[in-house]
Amino acid sequence: MMSERLYQAMLDQIQAEFAAAYLYLSMSMYFEEQNLPGFARWMWHQYLEEQEHAHKFIRHLVERGMPVTLKDIPAPEGGWDSPLAVFEAGLAHEQEVTRRIKAMYDIAMEDKDYQALPLLHWFLEEQIEEEDIFRRVVDDLRRIGDDPAALIFLDREMGRREGDDA
Ligand code: MG
Repeated sequence: MMSERLYQAMLDQIQAEFAAAYLYLSMSMYFEEQNLPGFARWMWHQYLEEQEHAHKFIRHLVERGMPVTLKDIPAPEGGWDSPLAVFEAGLAHEQEVTRRIKAMYDIAMEDKDYQALPLLHWFLEEQIEEEDIFRRVVDDLRRIGDDPAALIFLDREMGRREGDDA
């Protein structure tokens, strides 16, 4: 049986993953407006991936016989003034997700919920990858500065990300 507080944390996390999906969808739309199709496609893939994260928590609860009630998804704030600002916001968001997963891991350990640990462990590893990639793009965009040719080059690179097409 899952503890009430871990159960509530997972319900909150399902909401957070869909909120992340919504955030990345809005970032994808920002890049469409900027006519940077590679970045737009990359963010679209990120949007799909966040939904898969939500599905993992949903499946875990379903398979353990816990009811899943969905919460409201807040509209993303937006208002970014540059690709760098978008990726800095994305990095900050991923760092916050890492903090949340660690907090859930603490709860699972304290409540001796050994069945939840492999799922949370998967997410901890995933967060290393997520933070790494956002940090790399932030670094690239800082180096690029105001160079439009370099920005277009990076856009084409980003567009080569594997996965579902936008
Ligand atoms: Mg996620």
